Amino acid sequence: MSKTDWIVVGGGSAGCVVAARLADPNGSRCGNVTILEPPTNAARRVDRERPAKWLNLLGSSEDWKLTTSENPQLANRALRWPRGRGLGGSSRINAMIWFPPTCKDLQMLVNASGGAWNLAELQQDLNDLTELTRPEQPAWQSEASQRFLDAAKQFGAGAAWTYMRLNRSGRRWNPARLFNETQAGGCIEVQRTTVNRLICKGDRIIGVETYDDQGKNEIFANKGVVICAGAIATPAILMRSGIGPRDQLEKAGIEVCLESEQVGQGLQDHLIMPMIFQVRSGRFPPHPSVQDIARWQTMGTGPLASNLAECGGLFMQDSVQIHVTPTHYLSYPKQADQAYMTLGVNATQPQSMGMLQLQSSNPQVPLSIHPHYLQNTNDRDVTITGMRLVRRLVAETDLSRWIVTEALPGNKRKTDQDLGRAISRYSRTLYHPAGTSRFGATNSSVVTPEFRLKGFRQAWVVDGSILPRLPHGNPNATIMLLAFKAANRLRKLFS
Ligand SMILES: Cc1cc2nc3c(=O)[nH]c(=O)nc-3n(C[C@H](O)[C@H](O)[C@H](O)COP(=O)(O)OP(=O)(O)OC[C@H]3O[C@@H](n4cnc5c(N)ncnc54)[C@H](O)[C@@H]3O)c2cc1C
Repeated sequence: MSKTDWIVVGGGSAGCVVAARLADPNGSRCGNVTILEPPTNAARRVDRERPAKWLNLLGSSEDWKLTTSENPQLANRALRWPRGRGLGGSSRINAMIWFPPTCKDLQMLVNASGGAWNLAELQQDLNDLTELTRPEQPAWQSEASQRFLDAAKQFGAGAAWTYMRLNRSGRRWNPARLFNETQAGGCIEVQRTTVNRLICKGDRIIGVETYDDQGKNEIFANKGVVICAGAIATPAILMRSGIGPRDQLEKAGIEVCLESEQVGQGLQDHLIMPMIFQVRSGRFPPHPSVQDIARWQTMGTGPLASNLAECGGLFMQDSVQIHVTPTHYLSYPKQADQAYMTLGVNATQPQSMGMLQLQSSNPQVPLSIHPHYLQNTNDRDVTITGMRLVRRLVAETDLSRWIVTEALPGNKRKTDQDLGRAISRYSRTLYHPAGTSRFGATNSSVVTPEFRLKGFRQAWVVDGSILPRLPHGNPNATIMLLAFKAANRLRKLFS
């Protein structure tokens, strides 16, 4: 048994920001912070830093290796759902794109707060956060990205740009680096352990129960517990603590502490449909040459510094995001003798909502994940419209002369029915699960606009699970923004 000022459950994108802010010695520091993050094989691994090699991290010991249930709308496929494990969380294995929330996303958050937040403050928080994370403009770009950006300009609809990245000189930047970059590190302790459940005393959360190879342990917090275990593990921890839908808790033999119907519900994700084109030049190397390695090591540039998803943008009044990779999306990094480019299409505001189901009170038994992709037919319709837009963009610009053929879904698939079938067969997760313990001002919200776990004192939640809706683009920046705001609030409360 041990005691600290603050417990942060999960040292991922949100957890690192929260810990760094709470322990930041500048201004009024809030006290000592203990981050509880499950152990991983922390051996040095160069692929963790090489942007082009992030796919190698999926399925490794740094990935929770989750799998969804079979999706009836996806030809009964079960999808692999990577989630980062180890300090940095999903920022440790992700594609590093820094996609700041759009104005509509910021407004969505303000609306969800029921007037408790205001736009100007949120924008200021985003500016302050960006000064800390310092996303980088990439120094190298593939031929595919250059040609796509030129074509998008020529086409004239929508907005496309080179994505900023959480990199430092062409190397992955992990948000745990904030501990040293903000001098907070001296007051942060990282314990390599896994949280089973929260410990309540009346309506106060006083600590957590953890488990590891040595067995169970309890850790207590003087000031409070901030839960940042991500969109899957946060609702799992809440449910194992007796906070969740009554029927699920009772089925798993867990005593109900607080009935909260929305815990584990409202699951959203972006689903990407890859449109793959064989092109005339610019084959992206599946394995770096000696020169590529030297270029990256000395200057942080060249193809190894590519994050593969180099550019893209929002189209059709922001309802569709297009992602550009200089590869065959479904087979890279297997050797390809031809050059390919993929234009991935996804509906930015999916209407389908899935759910998580607790299987057991045993924390080692994973939740079952039911994303319910495409259950709302609007998501399929928007994706089809996006695919047709891509075909027009290709046909009406200089891309048409560079492209040899559309390999997937292929020109023979013409009707909405054909395209719908291709979406069912080939689309994949874009790795953005969210919304499973939403914050808001309504009765059913799990978390208040002050980030407090409803029904309890001394407990706060902030990570992808609290998003009321997915932002239009890649969500990491938005999640880190929520974490930054939550931590600033706690600093004010406790200074
Ligand atoms: C492969 C991949 C690529 C992606 N690419 C991008 C991208 O380019 N741009 C972008 O914006 N977004 C991207 N995302 C999404 C983005 O990285 C995530 O949405 C974001 O990191 C989620 O942050 P989080 O804090 O909610 O959760 P996480 O960062 O996942 O952190 C949760 C932490 O909690 C820990 N944890 C879990 N269970 C427990 C427990 N029981 N006890 C204690 N700790 C626990 C985990 O190990 C983890 O460290 C990607 C995600 C993946 C997986």
